[in-house]
Amino acid sequence: MNRDLHQQARELIACGSQGLSDSRQTWLHAHLDQCASCRDYAQAAEHFVRSLRSVPLAADRSLVRTTQTRVRLHAQQLQQRQERLWLVWMSCIVVGLSAAITTPLLWRGFEWIGESAHVSSPVWQVGFMVFWISPALAASLIFLARGIHLTDTNGTSRS
Ligand SMILES: [Zn+2]
Repeated sequence: MNRDLHQQARELIACGSQGLSDSRQTWLHAHLDQCASCRDYAQAAEHFVRSLRSVPLAADRSLVRTTQTRVRLHAQQLQQRQERLWLVWMSCIVVGLSAAITTPLLWRGFEWIGESAHVSSPVWQVGFMVFWISPALAASLIFLARGIHLTDTNGTSRS
């Protein structure tokens, strides 16, 4: 068989079957039926093209997936941080406001109770302190528990 024919066949294979005219494709198929070395070449070329196509696709998919996961994780962490910050701010505002409003009223209430019950000042003042401090204690306990819960979920999402 002519050496130019093999050369021509390999050039046609390199072009890819989709870019060939019908007559050239039939000629190439006829040549590949007869010629084992060009058939091997065609198979190698096909394998090469297929691996070229599949490798970047697989890399793209995994890259996209890991990027999406990282972005989502980062967004979650940001949101948790913002929620915690919001929680702290809100609790500060609520505690501050409620203290500003209720402390003078409570003080007067306890003073009135102490006077009408004929109890000495230290006694009703201690009662006022206990009553005044208990919501803050409860709130701090709740926020402490919630803070621990938030750090727990952070830890599991990171690992
Ligand atoms: Zn050949």
